[in-house]
Amino acid sequence: MELSEEQFRRYARHLILDEVGEEGQEKLLQSRVLVIGAGGLGSPMLMYLAAAGIGTIGIVDNDRVDITNLQRQIVHATSHIGDLKVESAKDSMRRINDGIRVETRSVRLDADNARDLVAGYDLVADGSDNFATRYLLTDLCYRLEKPLVAAALSPFEGQISTFRPYLGAGHPCYRCLFREPPPPDLVPRCETAGILGAIAGVMGTLQAVEVLKELLGLGDSLDGTLLIYDALRVRFHRIGIPKDPDCPTCRNSAAR
Ligand SMILES: [Zn+2]
Repeated sequence: MELSEEQFRRYARHLILDEVGEEGQEKLLQSRVLVIGAGGLGSPMLMYLAAAGIGTIGIVDNDRVDITNLQRQIVHATSHIGDLKVESAKDSMRRINDGIRVETRSVRLDADNARDLVAGYDLVADGSDNFATRYLLTDLCYRLEKPLVAAALSPFEGQISTFRPYLGAGHPCYRCLFREPPPPDLVPRCETAGILGAIAGVMGTLQAVEVLKELLGLGDSLDGTLLIYDALRVRFHRIGIPKDPDCPTCRNSAAR
């Protein structure tokens, strides 16, 4: 694959980096990334991944844009209210970069469709807001051996990690960290709990950075580490995630 004249100019600030260069940019252009959720986390992720020249970006979301989303879901605009979020996001992404392919799936990810959706991509980024999706992706990405970059939000805090449990010892999964989903009534979502919108921006942008690093094999991976952003105290904490030898998802990966 040869970069075009236009691509040389568009991606000039990547190409000038020794760590990316022409080879890295070509790798990004050939990559297929699936983003689950075009909401608070998905918004900055989709925009930065489009801008960075990820060649094919899939978006899974079955919601429509509501005026209450616009306080944090910056890929959507006021003129998009009532539109499918996947179409609204695609429109914004193509305005940023018309040289990439955007594949939209206006469905809710579930046990019946998830395998087919995930199998066609190199990496999955979870920007969903519910535990059912998070655990479904944990199990599926382990079985299909896809890196999973996942983040979660609370009103003034964010968490992010990368999971590659199929690599074996030292590579935990989300279930090694939290074995079971909490009871649904204990889980406040943005709609009910509220959130300082820009925190979603910080975490979704961190996710975009980690997706690019995973694809390029750059620097340290968050694999094995949970990074916590405490916005009120302006602190980032990192905690190690031990691999659970009895983890129902990934306990057999050490034998691989
Ligand atoms: Zn595990």
